[in-house]
Amino acid sequence: MSNSFASVSNRAHATPLKLTELDFSLSARGAQVRDQLAAFLDECVMPQEQALSAQMDALNGPEPFAPLMLELRAEARQRGLWNLFLADPVHGAGLSNVDYGHVCELIGRSPWAPMVFNCNYPDSGNMELLLDHATAKQRTELLDPLFAGDIRSCFAMTEPEVASSDPTGIRTTARLDGDEWVIDGHKWFISFAIGAKFCLTIVGTDPDNEAHQRFSLIAVPMDAKGLEVVRRVPIFGHAGGPGHAELRFSNVRVPADALIAKRGMGFQLAQDRLGPGRIHHAMRALGMAERALELGCERALSRKLKDGVLADTQMIRDFIAISRMELDAARLLVLRAARTIDLYGKHKSYRDISIAKVFIAQRAQEIIDRSIQIHGAKGISDDTPLAELYVNIRGLLRIGDGPDEVHKLTIAKQELKRFTHPASKV
Ligand SMILES: Cc1cc2nc3c(=O)[nH]c(=O)nc-3n(C[C@H](O)[C@H](O)[C@H](O)COP(=O)(O)OP(=O)(O)OC[C@H]3O[C@@H](n4cnc5c(N)ncnc54)[C@H](O)[C@@H]3O)c2cc1C
Repeated sequence: MSNSFASVSNRAHATPLKLTELDFSLSARGAQVRDQLAAFLDECVMPQEQALSAQMDALNGPEPFAPLMLELRAEARQRGLWNLFLADPVHGAGLSNVDYGHVCELIGRSPWAPMVFNCNYPDSGNMELLLDHATAKQRTELLDPLFAGDIRSCFAMTEPEVASSDPTGIRTTARLDGDEWVIDGHKWFISFAIGAKFCLTIVGTDPDNEAHQRFSLIAVPMDAKGLEVVRRVPIFGHAGGPGHAELRFSNVRVPADALIAKRGMGFQLAQDRLGPGRIHHAMRALGMAERALELGCERALSRKLKDGVLADTQMIRDFIAISRMELDAARLLVLRAARTIDLYGKHKSYRDISIAKVFIAQRAQEIIDRSIQIHGAKGISDDTPLAELYVNIRGLLRIGDGPDEVHKLTIAKQELKRFTHPASKV
C-alpha cells in the first residue's frame, strides 16, 4: 500500500542526536566542579538564602550588587566557581553543556545562586554574545568587566506596544547622525535593568531591508542622557530588586561604534543569544522543581493528621509520584538538548532546546504548584521558597525567552517538515 506522506526512512527523529550518543555522564572535571559547588551551596549560600533575597530585593541602583551578594561572589570566584556556563576555558570553567546541565541544576535550587557564580541571565547571554562579536574596544569596556563580575548588564528587546513574541514588529529606532546613533523608543520587562551598567538594545535601523535584517544591536550606557527608567514593572504584586524595568529612550545619543557586530544583524544576534540562554533556564528549572518536590515530601512526612501523616494519604502520594515522573522525564529532555549542543552546535539544536524548555517550564510549574498545595497556607507564604520559585517559573520560563506557544509552533513546524504533501505550505 502506498503512503502519500513519507517513506518509513523519512520518519527518523528530527534531532540530529543518535540513540548511541545519549551519554549524559559527567566528565572528571564536571564532577569536581559539581562537588565543590554543592559544598559551597550547602555551606555558604543556602543558610543565608533569605538574607540574600531580602538584600537583593532592597537594591535600588546604581550599585549592581547587595553587600552579602558581593561577599558570596568574592568567595565563589576565589574557589574557581565562576562563569561556569562558559565552555571557553580561559574565562569560563571549560565545561561541556552536559556537565553544565548537572551543575546548573544545583545552582537553580536557590533563586539568587546563579548571580553568586556570575552565571545569571541576562549577563551570561550577553557575555556569550559579546565573546563572539565584540570589537577590541567593546571587549575592554563591556565584556572584561562582566567576566570579572565588576558590573551587570541588561538586554532590551520587548516593547509594550507590540506583540514582542514576533520581534520583527519592534518600533524602537536608531538613526545615524554624523558619528552618533540617535535612539528613540520604548521597552519594558527589561530584567536586571536597575544597577546595570549598559543595555544591549534591539533597534530598527534599516526599515527597507527584508524583515529579519531591519534590526541592529546597540550597547547603550544606562546613564546615557535621554534614557529614562520609567518604573520597575511590578510582577505578581512584587516590585523590588533589580526589576523588570520599563525604559524610555528619547533622543539618546551613543557613538557609532556602540553597534555590536554588523548593521542589520540584530535579529540574528538575539536568536543566537537566546538559544543557549533557554537551555540554561531549563537546567535551572530542574533544580527549582527538584527542590520543590523535596520540600513537598518533607512536609508530607512531617504534617500530622488525626491518623498518621499527610504522606499516608493516597492523594498526596499521587502528587509525589506524578511529580517524580515528570521531573525525571524533563531532566532527560534537558540533558538531551545539552548533548545535542555539545555534539552538533547550537544552531542544529534549536528544536531540542525548544522541546526541553516548554516541557520543563510546564512540568516545573505543576510540580511547584503541587508542593504549594501540600503545604497548605504556608505554601503561598514567603516562609518557604516555593512562592518565589513559582513566580520565577510562571513568568520567566513560560513567557520570557519566547512563550510556550511560539516554541510549540517551531517544534510542530520541524515535525511536519519531515513529511511532504501537495496541499501543504509548511
Ligand atoms: C519574567 C520576565 C522577564 C523578561 N525579561 C526580558 C528581558 O530582560 N528583556 C526583554 O527584552 N524581554 C523580556 N521579557 C519579555 C518577554 O521576552 C516577552 O514577554 C515575550 O517575548 C512575549 O512577548 P509579549 O509579552 O509582547 O507577548 P505577545 O507577543 O503579545 O504574546 C502574548 C501571548 O500570545 C500568544 N502568542 C503569541 N504569538 C503567538 C503565535 N504566533 N501563535 C500562538 N500564540 C501566540 C502566547 O500565548 C503569548 O504568551 C521578559 C518577560 C518576563 C515574563
